[in-house]
Amino acid sequence: MTEQKTIYVDNSATTKMSQTAVDAMLPYLADFYGNPSSLHSVGQKAAEAITLARAQIAALLDCTPQEIYFTSGGSEADNQALLSAAIIGERKGKKHIVSTAIEHHAVLHTLKRLQKQGFEVTLLDVHRDGLVRPQELAAAIRPDTCLVSVMFANNEIGTIQPIEEIGRICKEKGVMFHTDAVQAVGHIPVSVQKAQADFLALSAHKFHGPKGIGVLYARKGIPLTNLIEGGAQEKGKRAGTENIPAIMGMAAAMQEACNHLEENAAKMRAMRDRLLEGLSTIPHSTVNGDCEKRLPGNVNMCFEGIEGESLLLLLDDKGICASSGSACTSGALDPSHVLLAIGLPHEVAHGSLRLSLSEENTMAEMEYIIKTVPEVVSYLREISPIWHDLEEGKKNHVI
Ligand SMILES: *Cc1c(COP(=O)(O)O)cnc(C)c1O
Repeated sequence: MTEQKTIYVDNSATTKMSQTAVDAMLPYLADFYGNPSSLHSVGQKAAEAITLARAQIAALLDCTPQEIYFTSGGSEADNQALLSAAIIGERKGKKHIVSTAIEHHAVLHTLKRLQKQGFEVTLLDVHRDGLVRPQELAAAIRPDTCLVSVMFANNEIGTIQPIEEIGRICKEKGVMFHTDAVQAVGHIPVSVQKAQADFLALSAHKFHGPKGIGVLYARKGIPLTNLIEGGAQEKGKRAGTENIPAIMGMAAAMQEACNHLEENAAKMRAMRDRLLEGLSTIPHSTVNGDCEKRLPGNVNMCFEGIEGESLLLLLDDKGICASSGSACTSGALDPSHVLLAIGLPHEVAHGSLRLSLSEENTMAEMEYIIKTVPEVVSYLREISPIWHDLEEGKKNHVI
């Protein structure tokens, strides 16, 4: 690879829109601009399109169109699921919620808000492998538990939770169950029936659809609480004129992703395993999260003695767009809450690298990454005082 090309391996952050999704959106940006609430033909044309998209998405999730609510994305869907469940629980005097320490901030921050409103929250340990133990979940459920919220697959370390078992436990105990399936939908099989979920969140931009659109699935008969008041859109549960181009793009992208699920997963798995094999030869490195129960496109590793942020900047110079998976969103360079939750010490969690693949990546790109990352890690270690302390035995290696 002489001429530098950009290698995008940050697909857990967002994906490139597929041509299918773009093509599905264009007519609704240019020609079919009606408001679906309008009674005239221009409006009704838009309303018919939404009806079809809703039915298509419902079929892919294994539910009815009446159970699909369009939202502005995964964050909104998570917020609405949790707040709705909390209000249902509160009416019954049940103010305890069980979740995990590795949820997305859309869930964790909403739980914080609920704690301020008097809810008690138990966050389950996910152990070194990043997996919830169903027996521990069952033991955490109390008579006053109203909701269990466990993500389908993790956005940083890619671990896939035993969702069907968790759903069954919740059903047996009569507790509502929400799953943030944003990283799962379009990548691994997801069925709300098999999961026995009462709520599920998904987001289009994680499977080659547009940004700013997602779905909240809410089981029939569950009363939702509005986050946005106004018109009667989405059965009165989410006001605002529908984002029709985005809805059409989402439905097309989801259909395409689900149609090619197996072949895309096989392709990504092969690339992922090659990366894991090639990068594991770096001394004092560790792979984060279970290697079997893992998203096909996720690699997450830590390298002792370096800063993830420096690694990312140098990799970017070499044309590799990756992520550290650490939450630098707050401005503070705190290590990732997920890596801390699986028991990594702070100093190790700081040296993390997440490579999240799409089916559009190639094996040649993987070979370039396998050649480049060890060079950059070695360079950073040479200039790292911490690494010198480790090498001189002033500090002990942790990994
Ligand atoms: C991206 C992501 C979200 C947020 O979705 P948006 O559509 O960006 O709001 C929520 N949960 C998980 C697991 C995610 O990866």
